[in-house]
Amino acid sequence: MSEQKTIHIAGKWRSAVSGATREVLDPVDATVLAVVAEGATADTDAAVSAARAAFDGGEWPATPVAERAELLRRTADLLQRDRERIGLLESLDAGKTLEEGRVDVDCVSAAFRYFADLVTGESAGRVVDAGSPDIHSVVVHEPVGVCALITPWNYPLLQASWKIAPALAAGNTFVVKPSEITPLTTAALIELLVEAGLPAGVANLVTGPGDPVGARLAAHPDVDLVSFTGGLTSGTKVMRAAADSVKKVALELGGKNPNVVFADACATEEGFDTAVDQALNAAFIHSGQVCSAGSRLIVEESLRERFVAELARRADLIRLGRGTDPGVECGPLVSAGQLARTEEYVASALSEGAVLRAGGERPDGPGYFYRPTVLDGCHRLMRVVREEVFGPVLTVETFRTEDEAVALANDTEYGLAGAVWTADQGRARRVAGRLRHGTVWINDFHPYLPQAEWGGFGKSGIGRELGPAGLAEYREAKHVYQNLAPRPVRWFAG
Ligand code: NAD
Repeated sequence: MSEQKTIHIAGKWRSAVSGATREVLDPVDATVLAVVAEGATADTDAAVSAARAAFDGGEWPATPVAERAELLRRTADLLQRDRERIGLLESLDAGKTLEEGRVDVDCVSAAFRYFADLVTGESAGRVVDAGSPDIHSVVVHEPVGVCALITPWNYPLLQASWKIAPALAAGNTFVVKPSEITPLTTAALIELLVEAGLPAGVANLVTGPGDPVGARLAAHPDVDLVSFTGGLTSGTKVMRAAADSVKKVALELGGKNPNVVFADACATEEGFDTAVDQALNAAFIHSGQVCSAGSRLIVEESLRERFVAELARRADLIRLGRGTDPGVECGPLVSAGQLARTEEYVASALSEGAVLRAGGERPDGPGYFYRPTVLDGCHRLMRVVREEVFGPVLTVETFRTEDEAVALANDTEYGLAGAVWTADQGRARRVAGRLRHGTVWINDFHPYLPQAEWGGFGKSGIGRELGPAGLAEYREAKHVYQNLAPRPVRWFAG
């Protein structure tokens, strides 16, 4: 298979300076999907120089907001034009179903449109009352400069777009580094940005490993901001690497997300069916490789046996396979490493006393598949309850009182997302108010809106994506203070 030139610098597609390449594997059967450029430090430095020159040259930062917004809207249109192609590419690369790939493209288009509308509707600056008619004081917002955007493999296109759309809307230039496991749709997105008319040098892409490419971006003195989505271990390295140059740091890290179910939510058959169905969806969509996966079921003790029995029955029915095959509901894990990690967590849980109610094994055949797994009888000290598995593994814990439910749900170093299921409106409000998580769902799980901030408390990260705060990440505030009647101060007498 011939190499696809996936490094994009100053408007040109290139191979790596070293000539190195990497095989991108199809997780369904470990065959080669594509051969891409394997960038390293020299490629990263060249990309940063191009982004720096494009920013300092000023064309994109000085482009009127309405034109920048128009480019974002054109990109959204192009994504919709190529929805099938890009949705399929995402399905093949990340091992998700074709329908999930299509939905990702729709969500990405919506994010581009959202940020286009957000900047278009803004006023030029905030006038500040300085207490004197002689002073004109205004706070304006300007682009940060060169942004390094580092993304993971579970939602490659979506995660890149949540960074690229606001970065461009605010007038920045950038270098994006997708996960080395799933670089294909990020390259496709850069092609569409070029087609939409983005000037050369504004959008740069380096494919390659976390170290050296991501590490160099985080440390590079000419990068003004690093926005990272990925695991906690890599995130802390990024923060450390960014410290010497005091760049802005935004981190979207992992989660260990509680799904709290009160018995009153299941008082009717319909309520029971809905809560079980959504618990299944929360834990197993995309084989649990979702930062906000509801991987901790915290269910009221009186409901446990009935709830878990039905959950396990339905988990056993989930159809695994190639995401493009009709009827398939879940794809494989993304890599051999992710499969080994999942197997290791399940083994450790069983050795610590968890009870296997569903799954717990790989199906026969090739690829990185793992059966949706339900582990009953878990407790807060188990590794599988405390650490992010990022696979199709659901742990079950129980509570008797509302206080106990809240304490368990907050007993995590993470704080990305959580849900509460109850028919009692007062309880819903109380529990939602007490959960220390960046997103709280009441009687739902997983939806997000481009208009609403996304991000985490605790070790789930720093900063927010989406919503007005997701645009603010990519800006510096500047206070312009004009004295309309300047006079000497005479602080010094001489
Ligand atoms: P990862 O941390 O291994 O890799 C993420 C990215 O960082 C990749 O591009 C990788 O090459 C790069 N990287 C690795 N080491 C680096 C270093 N030292 N310096 C700079 N970059 C480096 O994560 P992953 O396995 O690709 O993704 C899974 C993780 O991402 C999970 O923990 C998941 O929860 C998290 N995630 C979070 C969100 C969110 O919105 N909070 C969304 C998606 C995924």
